[in-house]
Amino acid sequence: MDWDKLGDDAVSILGEYLRIDTTNPPGNETPGAEFLGSILAEEGIAYKIYESAPGRSSILARLGGSGEGKPLILLNHIDVVPANPENWQVHPFSGEVADGFIWGRGTLDMKGMGIMELMACVAAAREGLGLRRDVVFLAVADEEAGGYSGARMLLENHPEELEADLVINEGGYATMDLVAGRPFFMIANAEKYGYWLRLKRRGVGGHGSMPTGQGALDLMVPALARLLENKRPMNINPTMQAFFSRLAEHWEILAPYGEDGDLQTLERLIVENNLTALPALSAVVRDTVSLNILNAGVKINVIPDEAEAFLDCRLLPETDGEDFLAFVREGLQDPEMEVDVFMDMEKAPASPIEGDFFRSIEKVIHADYPDAVTSPFMLSGLSDSRFFRARGVPCYGIIPARLGIADLARIHGVDERIPVQDVKDGVKFLYDLVVELCT
Ligand SMILES: [Zn+2]
Repeated sequence: MDWDKLGDDAVSILGEYLRIDTTNPPGNETPGAEFLGSILAEEGIAYKIYESAPGRSSILARLGGSGEGKPLILLNHIDVVPANPENWQVHPFSGEVADGFIWGRGTLDMKGMGIMELMACVAAAREGLGLRRDVVFLAVADEEAGGYSGARMLLENHPEELEADLVINEGGYATMDLVAGRPFFMIANAEKYGYWLRLKRRGVGGHGSMPTGQGALDLMVPALARLLENKRPMNINPTMQAFFSRLAEHWEILAPYGEDGDLQTLERLIVENNLTALPALSAVVRDTVSLNILNAGVKINVIPDEAEAFLDCRLLPETDGEDFLAFVREGLQDPEMEVDVFMDMEKAPASPIEGDFFRSIEKVIHADYPDAVTSPFMLSGLSDSRFFRARGVPCYGIIPARLGIADLARIHGVDERIPVQDVKDGVKFLYDLVVELCT
């Protein structure tokens, strides 16, 4: 295999793919799915397109194996979040190559990975690998709006096509700033789940010139303040314990935890070093509550008789929703506050970090990126992995892009870009992963 040539092809195919605007909403993934299909067709790889609604398509292609094991799914999503061209250095849908990067919305999240997966399948087909399990390339619609018209629709309507022993998806990146000069590959084996609450409080309306202290906001605001002040206790789950113990091999301040492996030591070190001042770290050691919408009042001189608040709560996979609700009610200290769960995302167990699949992934990372550090990780956000994990299929999220903090901030932000070399290396990495897991 001429990896250099295949890598160059991947870069130019990614450029074309980026030029197809699949901003969600509305999604418009069908042209993206058809484009991926055209590459597969050139290689003689059969595929199916599933349309969940007009313009909303997902695509599935299968390299047949002997059936000794259940399939490996290489999962990615076609849609991207919106981008405002006015704020970008290059047009977000140009796929421009400059300064050693490919620029554009979706380069990192996650058209870049989608093309790496596609080209790994192309390489596997060209090599005629003897597979002991099918390799399924699956590019879906709608991830950025919750995945209900993409991954979940497919799992519900075509479960037989999505049978699998494991799934590789987006999740962690290879962060360059955690351990100086070395890519720290975070293999996401777990994620928090969304638990969105709607709070409603009635009060007594009246004239703004004569406050009573009993208006809906008079009652709502202090209750919300009580709740937000009272943070959930730290709960460092097995995934994050493994992450911190890997970090302790490199971070002096965590060394005592590396030595005694005692959870209390870890909690003490996190507090003493104020690590939870970093929102990204705080989010992975406890359930969080974010007050994001507050609705009340229609006129400056009218005391509102009704107020409504929306809380974006993100719960650890170990947290029970009912227990969390009890915590919220206790924190509000207001029995007359109505609390409704208006969206309970699929809670899904962590995928195993002991066992062959995780070890194989680590092994291939170390072989392809000799200076890499690897670790399990839990995402604070959501991905389509949750649908598979909830159905008992292990999922590992790993995008082999080596990024500093500044580049990580471009995900869902402006000037999103991926190093050209990482796309090329990523094709080889995913191919090597297929060889390791499927031959
Ligand atoms: Zn994504």
